[in-house]
Amino acid sequence: MVIVVGGGPAGSSTAFFLAQQGFEVTVLDRARFPRDKTCSEYLSPQASRILEAMNALSEIEQSGAAQLAGMRVHAPNGATIHGEFAADHGFRGYRDRGLAVRRTILDSILLNRARDAGACVEEGVRVTDVIRSADGTVTAPVYVTQGSINSASVPPWPAPALTHYAKITSTNGAPPIVTTDGSNVPGKYNYLGCLEVTASVSQGFLVGLTNALAETVVSQFGDHLIFDRMYVHGVNASSTVQMTRGFLVTGSNISVVNSYVSQIYSSGGDAQAILGAHGPGPYLIQNNFLSASTEIIMFGGTGRTPGYSCTIAASPAPTTTTATVNTCIDFASGAVSTPAVGTCAMFYIGSAYTPANWVCITANSSGALTWSPALPSAPSTGAGKIKYGMVPADITINKNYLYKLPSWNSAVSCVLGLR
Ligand SMILES: Cc1cc2nc3c(=O)[nH]c(=O)nc-3n(C[C@H](O)[C@H](O)[C@H](O)COP(=O)(O)OP(=O)(O)OC[C@H]3O[C@@H](n4cnc5c(N)ncnc54)[C@H](O)[C@@H]3O)c2cc1C
Repeated sequence: MVIVVGGGPAGSSTAFFLAQQGFEVTVLDRARFPRDKTCSEYLSPQASRILEAMNALSEIEQSGAAQLAGMRVHAPNGATIHGEFAADHGFRGYRDRGLAVRRTILDSILLNRARDAGACVEEGVRVTDVIRSADGTVTAPVYVTQGSINSASVPPWPAPALTHYAKITSTNGAPPIVTTDGSNVPGKYNYLGCLEVTASVSQGFLVGLTNALAETVVSQFGDHLIFDRMYVHGVNASSTVQMTRGFLVTGSNISVVNSYVSQIYSSGGDAQAILGAHGPGPYLIQNNFLSASTEIIMFGGTGRTPGYSCTIAASPAPTTTTATVNTCIDFASGAVSTPAVGTCAMFYIGSAYTPANWVCITANSSGALTWSPALPSAPSTGAGKIKYGMVPADITINKNYLYKLPSWNSAVSCVLGLR
């Protein structure tokens, strides 16, 4: 296999001609095309010969390329040179005219020709090094995808040195660490660090800050919890032992920092290194290596946020800024108060909830609500026509390495080493 690093004109033409000759070629480029490139965008008449050989000339000519009859060069002292490509100097190029075309267009067309010839093109892949055999021969590139690295499906940096880490391994099907009710770890003002956490049987999550997502009021959530230098991991990809989440966090003042989460995957659905469900935050996710087969970090998505709803009275008729509500319930149908001033909510308008028109309650006089900004039209009346709740908020995600093993991407058939 030939690996071409860089999918500019040099890389794509090399890949094209090698692939045409039957070589197995993979092009790796750190950019995603169309990508721009500093250039005067001039193609000489002779360049057209190569473009034609790549079956690209007519597409480039039809792409809006300017036709250049010649060139005029201006020197700082005012002198000029003028030349025509087709003149009585006797030389004729492949075409009588040159071309001027945007590199976003030219380079994309050439890369597509490489693809057409059979080359595999991986965009967003930055080569950082090469691996050599004992005699110095280059055997493989080390490359980075989406900010992370792959060398023979090995994560970018090794798991933490574990000599001094205590290890918790769940073997009975229960998550290794759970806080709040039924917990083995107090869920308020706690610090867990330098722990290896794993399981030998499949888990929905390895570290859970929730009581089965049943929290309905802020006081039930985990609060002021710091996870620092944790090594939370599943096992090598397997159809039978799968960890769907590293951390399942709900709560307030939750930090996951300086930690390493790996081998989190599910063949049956989405998997995340960190799933933040319906706690109010703030959350800090910083300086971690996070690897999972689907979202890697996801907030919401539990189907329970926002979890509260009320009935909107038909009389007085709601307007774009007012409505009267009663009978408010949480997602477990328990009675709760009408939304307090400051609560932000989503109304049902016409035939749907409109999250894009999220508004905040500015006054609540015995269920008579006023909000701002105004909705595009008055909300519908009836049960469940306003929703609100503990939407995860104030989330800081900073300086993390997010990584997916290419082998987890079944849609990519030509990832290095997996073809
Ligand atoms: C100001 C300026 C004006 C110019 N004007 C003209 C002109 O008018 N006509 C002309 O013919 N030439 C012009 N040139 C020269 C022309 O731009 C280059 O000769 C041409 O782009 C070289 O093609 P290339 O494929 O070698 O490199 P590039 O076009 O630079 O492509 C290199 C590719 O490699 C990728 N890459 C780089 N590092 C990595 C990595 N570590 N891992 C993965 N991918 C990587 C990049 O993303 C890029 O897509 C000009 C150059 C400059 C700077």
